[in-house]
Amino acid sequence: MSEQVLLEARDLKRHYEVSLGAFKPKGTVKALDGVSFSVARGKTLAVVGESGCGKSTLAKLLTLIEQPTDGELLLDGQPVQGATKADIAKLRQKIQIIFQNPYGSLNPRQKVGAILEEPLVINTTLSKSERREKALAIMRKVGLKEEHYNRYPHMFSGGQRQRIAIARGLMMNPSLVVADEPVSALDVSVQAQVLNLMMDLQEELGLSYIFISHDLSVVEHIADEVMVMYLGRIVEKGSSETLFADPRHPYTRALLSSTPRLDPSKRIEKVKLIGELPSPLNPPSGCPFHGRCQFANDRCTTEVPPLQTLEGRLIACHGVEEGRL
Ligand code: SF4
Repeated sequence: MSEQVLLEARDLKRHYEVSLGAFKPKGTVKALDGVSFSVARGKTLAVVGESGCGKSTLAKLLTLIEQPTDGELLLDGQPVQGATKADIAKLRQKIQIIFQNPYGSLNPRQKVGAILEEPLVINTTLSKSERREKALAIMRKVGLKEEHYNRYPHMFSGGQRQRIAIARGLMMNPSLVVADEPVSALDVSVQAQVLNLMMDLQEELGLSYIFISHDLSVVEHIADEVMVMYLGRIVEKGSSETLFADPRHPYTRALLSSTPRLDPSKRIEKVKLIGELPSPLNPPSGCPFHGRCQFANDRCTTEVPPLQTLEGRLIACHGVEEGRL
C-alpha cells in the first residue's frame, strides 16, 4: 500500500527584502529558495544544515507563522495559501512545534497543569475536569507523574522540561510535529531518552515529524528520510539508510565526518569545510557550496548543479554527476 502523504511542499520560497543602508537599493535574502518535499503519515523527515541554511525559515512556514513568497504548501491535500482565517486556525491545531529551549518556551509562572491545559482553554469547550483528565493522560504518555501537575517548570531537569514541552505539543492531537532542535540543549544521555520517547509516541499516535537539526548524528535513528540543506536549497535528500551508509554530497560528507560515531565501521573519511558560510545576501555563483568545497572545478564556479536523482537519492552536485566523487 502506498504511503499517505500528510504534508507536501512544492517549490517553496521565502525571500526577505533587506535594507542595505540609506540611498542604496534593497537587497534580497533568499532564505528558502525552491524547496520541494513531502512527509508521509507516521514518518519522520529530518532537515539538517548549519544555521543560515534555511531550516528555521522552513519551520516558520510549516507552522504557518509566515507565508511563503512563492510555492505551495498542502496539508492533507488542502492548500494552505488562500485558506480562510478559520481554516488556518484549524490547520494550526494539526501542526505543533517543539522548540530547542524548553526554558524559554514554558511560562515560568504557570504550573505544568495550566501550561498543558492552556491550548484546551483557548480552542475547546472542555470542562475543567475534562481538561485535567486529558492533561494527566498526556503526562503519563510522556513519562511525567501525577504529582508533577502542580509544579513549576523550574522544578524540573532539562530532559523533564522537554517532556513537558512535548506533552503540551500533543494536547490538541496534532498530525504533524515540527521539532526544532529538540534535543540540542540536553546532555547526550538525556538526548537518547527524549529521542526514544518521541519514537514511542510516533508509533502510538501515528504522528509525523519534521525534525530540524544542525547535527546529522542526532537524526540517524529517528529519521526515515534526511534532507540536507545549504543556503536555502536542498543539496542531498534520501532515505536515512542511504545517506548515512553512503553520503555523497561533499557538504553532507563534511557534516557527517565532523560528528563522532561510535561504530568504527561507520566512520567516513574526513571531508573538510573550507572557510565560512557565505552571506545569503550575496551567495556565490554556480554551486553555492563551491567556495568551501575541496572538489570544486571550473564548472562548479559558474553552473548551478540541478537537484537530480543519482545513486538512489536526490543530489545537487556536478562532481557526483561527472562520476569523480
Ligand atoms: Fe563541490 Fe562542485 Fe559538487 Fe558543488 S557541485 S559540491 S563545488 S563538486
